[in-house]
Amino acid sequence: MPVPDELEIILGQHIGAPCTPTVAKRGEVQEGEIIGEVTKGLGVPLHAPVAGKIKDLGMSAHPMRVSAPSITITVNHEAEPRHYQAQDWQTVDAKELLARVHAAGIIGIGGAGFPTHVKLSPPPDNPIDTLLLNGAECEPYITADHRQMLEHAADIIEGAKIILRILGIKNCHIGIESNKPDAILAMTEAARAGSTADYSLTVKALQVKYPQGSEKQLIQAITGRKVPAMALPSAVGVVVHNVSTASAIRDAVVFGKPLYEKVVTIAGQGIARPANLMVKVGTKIGDIVKYLGGLKPDLAKIVMGGPMMGFAVSSLDIPVTKTTSAVLFLTEAETDTEPHSQCIRCGWCLEACPMGLEPKEIAIYVEANRPEDTAQFGVFECFECGSCAYVCPAKRPLVQFVRLAKMKAKR
Ligand code: SF4
Ligand code: SF4
Repeated sequence: MPVPDELEIILGQHIGAPCTPTVAKRGEVQEGEIIGEVTKGLGVPLHAPVAGKIKDLGMSAHPMRVSAPSITITVNHEAEPRHYQAQDWQTVDAKELLARVHAAGIIGIGGAGFPTHVKLSPPPDNPIDTLLLNGAECEPYITADHRQMLEHAADIIEGAKIILRILGIKNCHIGIESNKPDAILAMTEAARAGSTADYSLTVKALQVKYPQGSEKQLIQAITGRKVPAMALPSAVGVVVHNVSTASAIRDAVVFGKPLYEKVVTIAGQGIARPANLMVKVGTKIGDIVKYLGGLKPDLAKIVMGGPMMGFAVSSLDIPVTKTTSAVLFLTEAETDTEPHSQCIRCGWCLEACPMGLEPKEIAIYVEANRPEDTAQFGVFECFECGSCAYVCPAKRPLVQFVRLAKMKAKR
């Protein structure tokens, strides 16, 4: 997508401490320059997606927190796009590769935004033997990873090899749902071409089954290993990264290019022209809407993320972050706005929950104003897949109840 006149870059884009601005109002910045850093705690630096002038250090609209601190850049459309030179990584040691990943501000693109360099440094008491690349993309509507696998399969494979070198292991499996045969083909060919005596890469076609792309489900589907409750994948010797994150790692390590643009799926019947767009981080939803020809009159709901795990938003001023996978513009026909009723104890949500939790109990305790008592039903094991709410005949907003419970209950 052409770069709009202004970008708003939210300072807290990852899990951990938000960045502190390293630039001053009215200062000039170049594309790729650091504009925010984490001085204390977990985090990664933030980079200018374009050359331009710092217009403001203020607040921007945010999908979950209403508003959040940000840096606004007025884009200099005259500036030449920055060119990055390829550099060797094959002979570089793991520590230096990890430093490049951190310096480029890489976080998990497909998930909650966990800093990637931390995920690539598993605890020494958990030996890792397998890398999984997540290309399942199991949520309806979203096709950003699908396009990446078709158009940048070799880059993803090179990213996977860099991760293998950092972890000091040989084996990588790439999981893709079998409803994407073209992506399976493209990735299988690239994996075959990229495999060597040191790197073994294979593609696994997965059953089409939501939420196949969640970490724990993916690990079990591909390796048969079950991650214990409240444990990380490293507990069973596995590290999982999204295919698009692998591509970003390749850009960071090979070209020294920071993460400041990404592919976002724009879909739903409420937008004039759906598309997968490469957009700069900080692009406002409103600018995307304008570029794609505007909204349809029967638009009922805007969702950031997928229909199962995303958040409904009420403003077109919200900017894209590094973790924005999709923006959906849903019409009345595509969404359900009917009010919910009491639980009828049908048990469907228990059957649907991939973690074996009791969503109905969590909801009842939250309604009874006792969210602090929900830990006994495994509320912290819930990864908010939305399956329970999807099947509930009483249309109970079970995920919202879970989110409320997580805010109040103690781990
Ligand atoms: S959202 Fe519902 S179905 Fe999904 S893990 Fe949480 S409780 Fe289980
Ligand atoms: S699916 Fe809905 S109605 Fe059925 S038990 Fe769960 S919360 Fe209750």
